Amino acid sequence: MAIKESPKATAAAPSTGIKVIVVGAGFGGLTAAIECRRQGHAVEIYESFPELKPLGDIISFGPNAGRIFRRWSDGTVADRMRPLSIDLRAHGFKIHKYTGELVITQRNPEIDPEAPVFNGHRGELHTVVFNYAREELGIPIHLGHRVTQYWEDEERAGIILDSGEKATADLVVGADGVRSKARELVLGYFDKPKSSGYAVYRAWFPNTDMIKDPRTKHFCENGDTFNGWIGPDVHFLFSTIKNGQDCCWVLTHKDEADIEESWSFPGKLEDVYKVIEDWDPICKAIVEKTPSLVDWKIVYRDPLPRWVSDHGRITLLGDSAHPFLPTSAQGATQAMEDGVTLAVCLKRGGKGRVPATVRAYQDIRYDRVRAVQKTGETTRDMWHKADWDKVAKNPESIQLPREDWIFKFDAEKHAEAVFDEAVRKFL
Ligand SMILES: Cc1cc2nc3c(=O)[nH]c(=O)nc-3n(C[C@H](O)[C@H](O)[C@H](O)COP(=O)(O)OP(=O)(O)OC[C@H]3O[C@@H](n4cnc5c(N)ncnc54)[C@H](O)[C@@H]3O)c2cc1C
Repeated sequence: MAIKESPKATAAAPSTGIKVIVVGAGFGGLTAAIECRRQGHAVEIYESFPELKPLGDIISFGPNAGRIFRRWSDGTVADRMRPLSIDLRAHGFKIHKYTGELVITQRNPEIDPEAPVFNGHRGELHTVVFNYAREELGIPIHLGHRVTQYWEDEERAGIILDSGEKATADLVVGADGVRSKARELVLGYFDKPKSSGYAVYRAWFPNTDMIKDPRTKHFCENGDTFNGWIGPDVHFLFSTIKNGQDCCWVLTHKDEADIEESWSFPGKLEDVYKVIEDWDPICKAIVEKTPSLVDWKIVYRDPLPRWVSDHGRITLLGDSAHPFLPTSAQGATQAMEDGVTLAVCLKRGGKGRVPATVRAYQDIRYDRVRAVQKTGETTRDMWHKADWDKVAKNPESIQLPREDWIFKFDAEKHAEAVFDEAVRKFL
């Protein structure tokens, strides 16, 4: 199967002649493909899900992702995401001790129009980006195509699908998520995930029952809200979105169960009630309105020794290279930064230097991603091991960190600035 040059590819930037196959149409894969198109590469996506479904629940994009979305279609993609996303300008983030006392209201910074923040339903935001890639840019996205094998030689790389079909390109990008198949080829072994010791019960539902209950209706009647309750080794976050129309909560708690990571394991309300026994009763009042929930085990993987294959023709990107803890709120954003960086590197390196270029991409990304990953642990531990006497004296200490080195980062500018030096050692 040959990759076709789309007429719109040349409209975006001069064609580089580089052909890229992206495996996976999550935020990482879609961003990689969109940015490859922006930088003049020919790109196609292969995705195992047979049709687009609005899966998942709450997902966060920091300003460092907003800056990327803003560059798409002169800001119209970001404009479409805005009404789907939580608006906390009036409410801020109210942080409570699990017993109910309000500790602090963390104000939200003004939205930077060039680097907006988005928090909303993963499926709804994903649909906006997916449709932009497919309908507006005309990027071929082959749904229902599961990749079963990867291969490479010095000149090319390729994939084999479960149908037996084959496709080849200058570069294959394994943006195939936490249970990546591409990772096996790159590493040469199967890296078994480890339990992180935590799991998250997660739910998203309409406000129908919330507004019937006098204890909970205020969450849905005055715009969007965001509240957190923090206890020993556990935290509960509850938000209302789209002007209070939808409700979402996540409860992170200790869990050593050794089952596979998945967004689809159903959870049980009785188990949630056990975790929040003796808590602020409003937490149970919220949880009992939940029609269904997911029990998502958070797994760990040690940092991979490398993201790039022996011949430099296959690379990992996003969760396949570096899964994140939800408390970092940066997993999807870092996957997007990967995509931007890779596309810039390929443009700068050119068709004749793909392997060196892809190694430079890993080099540019590796330490930053590792440092951002760690913030997931530090935020979780700051909450779960809170010393409430100290917090009483310094309530700001319990706020969500918002760090400039993460949020003010411009992946595109950075890649342009450091590429020449990064690639030199691989030539
Ligand atoms: C169904 C689902 C629901 C999620 N819900 C949430 C959520 O509510 N909140 C949140 O914060 N994060 C959620 N995530 C994770 C979040 O989207 C990612 O952490 C982040 O966006 C990084 O994305 P990624 O593109 O690297 O990986 P992913 O988003 O996991 O995308 C990987 C893609 O690769 C595809 N794929 C995997 N194997 C193959 C194969 N062999 N052949 C072809 N395609 C393949 C998968 O179907 C998937 O679409 C969810 C992920 C998925 C897949």
